[in-house]
Amino acid sequence: MGMNHQEKAPFLVAPLEALINWARASSLWPAQFGLACCAIEMMSTAASRYDVARFGMEVFRASPRQSDVMIVAGRVSQKMAPVLKTIYEQMLEPKWVIAMGDCSSSGGIYNNYAIVQGVDKIVPVDVYIAGCPPRPEALIYGLIQLQEKIKDERVFAQRKRKR
Ligand code: SF4
Repeated sequence: MGMNHQEKAPFLVAPLEALINWARASSLWPAQFGLACCAIEMMSTAASRYDVARFGMEVFRASPRQSDVMIVAGRVSQKMAPVLKTIYEQMLEPKWVIAMGDCSSSGGIYNNYAIVQGVDKIVPVDVYIAGCPPRPEALIYGLIQLQEKIKDERVFAQRKRKR
């Protein structure tokens, strides 16, 4: 089992990192856009029955500059791919990506040239959620997994992105 990075962090850095990570994980603001049927489940997650506000994530932002998590909810067409990548690049660091559903994770049932065979071909993905579509509970579980990942990040080390 690997050593917790906080055991090796210098004096005062570990609690400061924990505080920053707690703040980041508790106030994820998703970018407000959806691509296909999965987006309906994403909208349901934000509505009163599932109420993602309980996790500090109710503020879906219309501007990528005010968002720090991209939920790719639906299939990504080749035509949409450069638009999605532009939105991702306009989001400020730190930022995270969730591939919601089979289509955004791997192309899903669309095994053809018109659909990107996994959004990780164009942007780095932090969490994948299986399902067609995943229910709101699955998206909430994925968001909690992302929170756990963020809580373990090294704030003062350079963040390595795949692209
Ligand atoms: S995974 Fe299923 S529900 Fe989601 S976009 Fe693809 S076909 Fe639609």
